[in-house]
Amino acid sequence: MNEENPTKGPPKYCFNCGAQIDANTEICPKCGIGKIPTPQKEMLIAPVSDAWYLAPLFFGILGGLIGYVAVKDRDPKKAANILFVSIILTIIAWLIFL
Ligand SMILES: [Zn+2]
Repeated sequence: MNEENPTKGPPKYCFNCGAQIDANTEICPKCGIGKIPTPQKEMLIAPVSDAWYLAPLFFGILGGLIGYVAVKDRDPKKAANILFVSIILTIIAWLIFL
């Protein structure tokens, strides 16, 4: 079909001028800057530990809030779950002790 780059992967584009450059070339031949850096976001962010669910068990709603703040930047959904668990546990504790 396309006879350009028959043995190479998808084309890379210069992040500076947008010219298509060789996948194996580090420097753009057109402007001399370089290709788009490979995203490494997933490698830098550690997975959120399930141990945060235990925080409300020991510290009640305060533990839930600490867990929520610690986790929300990395995993907002899990942070909301931790906060929810802490509220439920606090309500259960009130029902037992009152
Ligand atoms: Zn360029």
